[in-house]
Amino acid sequence: MKRFAVSVVAVFLVLCACNFAVAFLRFNRKTSAQLNEGFYIIIDAGHGGMDGGTSAADGTLEKNINLSIAQKLDSMFKACGFNTVMLRTGDELIGDNSLSTIRARKVSDIKTRLSIAHSYPQSVLISIHQNHYSVEKYNGAQVFYSPNAPASKLIAQAVQSSIVENIQPDNNRQIKAVGTNIYLLYNCNLPSIMVECGFLSNREEAEKLKNEVYQKQLAFSVVNGILNYLE
Ligand SMILES: [Zn+2]
Repeated sequence: MKRFAVSVVAVFLVLCACNFAVAFLRFNRKTSAQLNEGFYIIIDAGHGGMDGGTSAADGTLEKNINLSIAQKLDSMFKACGFNTVMLRTGDELIGDNSLSTIRARKVSDIKTRLSIAHSYPQSVLISIHQNHYSVEKYNGAQVFYSPNAPASKLIAQAVQSSIVENIQPDNNRQIKAVGTNIYLLYNCNLPSIMVECGFLSNREEAEKLKNEVYQKQLAFSVVNGILNYLE
């Protein structure tokens, strides 16, 4: 039985890779020449350091899952020939950590992330987070977008569709513009999206989100969505 499960995962990954390879080839044929040299994929692993984000019932912290998925995105985008920027590469907040209050350090962190993103003006920002709700039954990824650059909504739709197509066929969630509570995207002038990859409050989904193979499938789906958009 275990061998069967391993084969199913292997077949899935091969299919996923094929889908990705087709998108990549189409993309390379049509689009790579049109991409400006200053075009970067900016990857934001949400939270970090003293800010763990939300958590699963077993104590798994959102910040660690965010970083793990962000690192996979970084490798995959690089393999496709993109320039990338990771806003954080370790378990840390990236602002002024000498500030006296937690709130001040968090504000400094998010402003630093925004300022780095804005220093790559012809780029796309992808922020990675995990969701949480007081009721366990909710699950599924949802992509949010910045209300500023019009391309954000198109990118969000392309990524949401790719996730549904590749790994979550029953997901009916709709993309949504962020409000003032999501500082980074609300204030970002670049085409920018936030992928809430799933709900840590749902035990079954939390187990998947902790799994390296599932994280790769998610990352594949996000990259595939971006390639579809750029095409
Ligand atoms: Zn978060």
